[in-house]
Amino acid sequence: MRLNFINGFLTCAVGVILVVVGCFSVLAENSNVEKTSTETTPKTKSPYIYILGVAQDAGYPQAGCYKKHCMRGWNDLSLKRGAASLGLIDPSMGKKYMFEATPDFPEQLFKLEQEAPTKDYEFAGIFLTHAHIGHYTGLMFLGHEVMGTVNTPVYGMPRMNDFLRNNGPWQQLVTYKNISLKPLKNNHPQSIGTLEVTPFLVPHRDEYSETVGYRITGPNKSALFIPDINKWSQWSTDLATVIKTVDYALIDATFFADGELPGRDMSKVPHPFVTETMTVLEKLSEQERNKVWFIHFNHTNPLLNLISEESLWVKSKGFNIAYEGLRLGL
Ligand SMILES: [Zn+2]
Ligand SMILES: [Zn+2]
Ligand SMILES: [Zn+2]
Repeated sequence: MRLNFINGFLTCAVGVILVVVGCFSVLAENSNVEKTSTETTPKTKSPYIYILGVAQDAGYPQAGCYKKHCMRGWNDLSLKRGAASLGLIDPSMGKKYMFEATPDFPEQLFKLEQEAPTKDYEFAGIFLTHAHIGHYTGLMFLGHEVMGTVNTPVYGMPRMNDFLRNNGPWQQLVTYKNISLKPLKNNHPQSIGTLEVTPFLVPHRDEYSETVGYRITGPNKSALFIPDINKWSQWSTDLATVIKTVDYALIDATFFADGELPGRDMSKVPHPFVTETMTVLEKLSEQERNKVWFIHFNHTNPLLNLISEESLWVKSKGFNIAYEGLRLGL
């Protein structure tokens, strides 16, 4: 009897310890997220960016990848991450927008709905950067087989819009008037209520469309969004200089470092590695480096895990790592 009691007590005590340890590790992970320094809590009436996805086009975990880094994600779907996408919410106008229509559009639209319900916020348009699968194929969910939307504004550059207009199945979205294509011009601000959105051309694999980044300017602050770009040296603009002109820079972090794709010659991979971007920006003041939010992570990128050794190192150098649910006030 006494022995049973002691056994029971021990089991209980071990159980309590496990629960407590469990709680602490959850807290540790959360506090690590919350500690990410420069998040500005948006004033209720000011517009803000709401991050909906942070991965490269394929998302995380990636189709067909069963290596250790992706098995973590297959075994725990709470770690799943959608392709890079931003929500843009303007409370004073009662409008919401999306940047990119990704293959994860259904979940991302729902996240946007939870943050800015349609009863209060009109879904007023989608801005596209280019015609690679992670950036536009989510448009299919607007069509006849799914939502059957009516004239949802889709903002794109001339080649991007021609591509949608002239190729199935996207063409059908245009002929059925599910979407209404809005033309953008390089370096010309597009005014949307209290905000301005300015596309600018960047070098990238331009098979089907040109590629742009965006400058999003609000009443108080502005942001750069460049999810895909070749090495910074191939861009006509100097990254360090342009960062001084904005408050946030959400920039291409597809690969963390050379050697990330075993067996592949990474000198042929035309993205700036995170380590290279950090070197390009190392002379900036800490305040300037703090504006950088890395985004668009390949499934192999250790920055997908906010508490990996590499993530902690990047943060210790004053840079930030974008995560789903992050809000950046404009
Ligand atoms: Zn991409
Ligand atoms: Zn993988
Ligand atoms: Zn691309």
